[in-house]
Amino acid sequence: MSDASRLEFVIAGGGTAGWIAAATLARFLGDCASITLVESDDIGTVGVGEATIPQIHNLLIGLGIDQADFLRATNASFKLGIEFDGWRRHGESYIHSFGSVGRGVGLIPFRQLWLRGRALGVAGDYGDYSLNVAAARAGSFAIGEAASVELAYAYHLDATLFAQMLRGYAEERGVRRVEGKIVAVERDGASGDIAALQLEGERRIAGNLFIDCTGFRSLLLGGALEVPFTDWTHWLPCDTALAMPTESGPQFRPYTQSLARPAGWQWRIPLQHRTGNGHVFCSAFMDVDSARDLLLANVEGKPLADPRPIRFTTGHRREYWSHNCVALGLAAGFMEPLESTSIHLVQSGISRLLNLLPRDRADFATARSQFNRLSTTEWERVRDFLILHYVANERVGEAFWDHCRAIELPDTLTEKLDLFRDSGLFVREEDELFLDDSWGQVMIGQGIMPRGWSPLADNVPGEDIGPFLDSLAKSCRTRAAALPPHGAFIARMLGQP
Ligand code: FAD
Repeated sequence: MSDASRLEFVIAGGGTAGWIAAATLARFLGDCASITLVESDDIGTVGVGEATIPQIHNLLIGLGIDQADFLRATNASFKLGIEFDGWRRHGESYIHSFGSVGRGVGLIPFRQLWLRGRALGVAGDYGDYSLNVAAARAGSFAIGEAASVELAYAYHLDATLFAQMLRGYAEERGVRRVEGKIVAVERDGASGDIAALQLEGERRIAGNLFIDCTGFRSLLLGGALEVPFTDWTHWLPCDTALAMPTESGPQFRPYTQSLARPAGWQWRIPLQHRTGNGHVFCSAFMDVDSARDLLLANVEGKPLADPRPIRFTTGHRREYWSHNCVALGLAAGFMEPLESTSIHLVQSGISRLLNLLPRDRADFATARSQFNRLSTTEWERVRDFLILHYVANERVGEAFWDHCRAIELPDTLTEKLDLFRDSGLFVREEDELFLDDSWGQVMIGQGIMPRGWSPLADNVPGEDIGPFLDSLAKSCRTRAAALPPHGAFIARMLGQP
């Protein structure tokens, strides 16, 4: 690449998004690009964000980060899925686990056999056939040589510590960090592209490709380039979170808890050294004082700080890439952490940028339109999955939940629901993030029971289905029971007494 076309990245913001971007660019572009990251110690980061999905392995493997080093540096624990308590109705819970549920036979998907078994009265709960669910219920976890089974997992982590770890990684690989407050964004008069960031103290940071990671402020994409915000509040009405760490609770669960509340939900995320807690709610249905009281009354350990309110609007910038500026993280948009997708969306955004990066800057326009199209689809499919949790509730008589059931659905979700209601089928579209097993667990967990099943499942003798299901469920229970407790496994992995 000639010097004229050399990419000069300027990353504005050093939260989780900024440092994931910096580390990934440094790892994969090496000396082919210069990378500068600007962050302000005075402004700080949002300071929340603790649960992930299994795709985080792609990031860690891609960067070559050792798992034990990562666990140590971020106080991480293992996550097998999310327990949704009270989301369908009071007193009922289910786990949306990672990995597969059951095992199909030939071309017959497991869910179809289960549906037929259910009609015959020989099937247990859908989750009974998931090894991850069995391990979560047993509080056990193991991977590698200590395990005779293969669990699908992600992590709970301290996102601030994770960003620090990535900062060290990026700086070792040549990323230049500049501390300072961005006070103005300078644009090229002819193209409208961003030319430079002006910092307090009359400093100027020039570049040719800018990554906006300035959090909810969206200083570059939303501010300087004035890309409008697409508001999704009518689909996902929660708009406030209260976050608060506590001492660890009595159980060190290998899964996230999501507990439905009268106007939203509460999270519990166990880390090695503490538990992350939060209450996401809709301010039209509950005031912040009541939300705080409810959170304080429902934590398991001693609070380590006061609940901190964070206001948000669900939605995204209409374009994720405009001119020569790509936004990642909160600067691109926000969806509540119900399925722990934000850190993943940063990862997939930066991977997408790298995959589409043109050799010549004159080709930005093509890459940009592809980037925007693919990002929009990815975000919309995640949005649909989140909406599903809310609309399919049976908490009749509770104002917030009644409101959610009446939400007019996006067509894309209506189509999925219609297909599933008919025969439990699911069609994955355009690389969407959540797969059949995820949708199936949440649909069934929320009480959406298909009317029938695929004719494929009729081609199995009815008397074989009960024993088949029983042996699968038993195998899940037995294998999970043989695993060590979650905490013991982490201690062993980290060489702790
Ligand atoms: P921030 O952390 O806000 O960082 C912004 C950066 O920009 C900072 O470095 C700041 O100093 C800098 N900056 C801003 N303005 C200026 C300026 N003028 N000059 C210089 N620098 C500036 N994600 C998950 O994956 N899982 C979760 O469980 C999860 N839970 C969440 C819970 C809540 C309540 C919220 C709000 C978010 C949650 N997220 C979660 C999302 C996650 O926290 C964020 O996606 C992630 O931390 C990325 O944040 P960020 O880097 O975009 O923004």
